[in-house]
Amino acid sequence: MALKYLTCLLLFAAPALWAQSTVIHAGHLIDGNSSEIAGKTTITIEDGKITAVESGYKKAPDGATVIDLKDSWVMPGLMDMHTHLSGQANPNSYNEGFRMNPEDYAFRSVRYAERTLMAGFTTVREVGGNMSIALRNAVRKGWIKGPRIFAAGQSIATTGGHADRTNSLNHFLMGDPGPAEGVINGADEARKAVRQRYKNGADHIKITATGGVLSNAKNGRNPQFNQEELDALVQTARDYEMHVAAHAHGAEGMKRALRAGVLTIEHGTFMDDEVIALMKEKGAYLVPTMMAGDWVTKKAQDPDYFPKLVRPKALATGPAMRTNFTRAYKEGVNIAFGTDSGVSAHGENGYEFFLMVDAGMPPMEAIQSATSVSAKLLGIQDSLGTVEAGKIADIVAVKEDPTKNIRIMEDVSFVMKEGVVYKQ
Ligand SMILES: [Zn+2]
Repeated sequence: MALKYLTCLLLFAAPALWAQSTVIHAGHLIDGNSSEIAGKTTITIEDGKITAVESGYKKAPDGATVIDLKDSWVMPGLMDMHTHLSGQANPNSYNEGFRMNPEDYAFRSVRYAERTLMAGFTTVREVGGNMSIALRNAVRKGWIKGPRIFAAGQSIATTGGHADRTNSLNHFLMGDPGPAEGVINGADEARKAVRQRYKNGADHIKITATGGVLSNAKNGRNPQFNQEELDALVQTARDYEMHVAAHAHGAEGMKRALRAGVLTIEHGTFMDDEVIALMKEKGAYLVPTMMAGDWVTKKAQDPDYFPKLVRPKALATGPAMRTNFTRAYKEGVNIAFGTDSGVSAHGENGYEFFLMVDAGMPPMEAIQSATSVSAKLLGIQDSLGTVEAGKIADIVAVKEDPTKNIRIMEDVSFVMKEGVVYKQ
């Protein structure tokens, strides 16, 4: 009898709980689209969705939860288009893989995901890392707190390429990794690697089109795929409705990747005029990751921090990334916000805003690059990226006007994801 009563109670109580509405009184609103900051605004949220955005402070309906953000600058949940939640660079990065098990990586990445969410980043694009697909699923299921994750799984490289994780190991440990592990040679293996990632549940594909800074290899800029391999990678990804993100520092690798049709160039450090023209022609995005350049340049001041092959590459990268960003912005290249967090510490993602503004981008455009522009990159602009009626309620806030002090973006004081408050 008691059980029956309880069941009835739950049945009647449940719809009432779901219809529970939340009302935010925002002192200032940056909606993600407009270049203007709106004054007093009321945002109504029901079932995790924004149902109304009205000017002035409206009276909340009976029973609604009222959130007072009258002293804050409210904006859409931030998006970072370049993260690696599976790890974080540290003095032991080059050898921790010999001691840590997959379970250790998994538990550690849970903390990184939570820190990222608490920093105001409610959506991230993971661009390389074994843990990312399982982590995405764990967040979706509500097992852990983290941002909404779009995951690539393990990056794809060629033998000895930037994302070949067996580089510089001894011959016994090196083995002969193949498409499943993310190492391909030739168009057939390229197709197999993409299909394997689709099977694993990836949302998009990450490739390392040129050498990189942190891999223990001499060349940080050389092209690492031929055109046929790149064409096979991008065309196969398209068959499965996945876009391709291409890590690239050198110009030749960028040109090949853009001709093949990649959507994003990650880092883009040494672009030339032809690359910029191709980016514009193709509508591709630069994901600048200046935080990674800044971090490696600072660490390289210590002569013992990096392996011998890495240090000169690190010293050259930071200043070049900044010069390149300024130029690409002036030329009108699409720019989406991305930090390469996992090189720098997770949760510090907001520092990239300062680097972008310092290199010449107006603050409002930097915020849009991390909201409406990133939503468009991911193809989710109908449901996320702005504070508008009909969108999912991903909302964050800061206590100062970020167009006057961009560094306040490193101190997000309110975080809501899908209508649930994580930080207040
Ligand atoms: Zn990266």
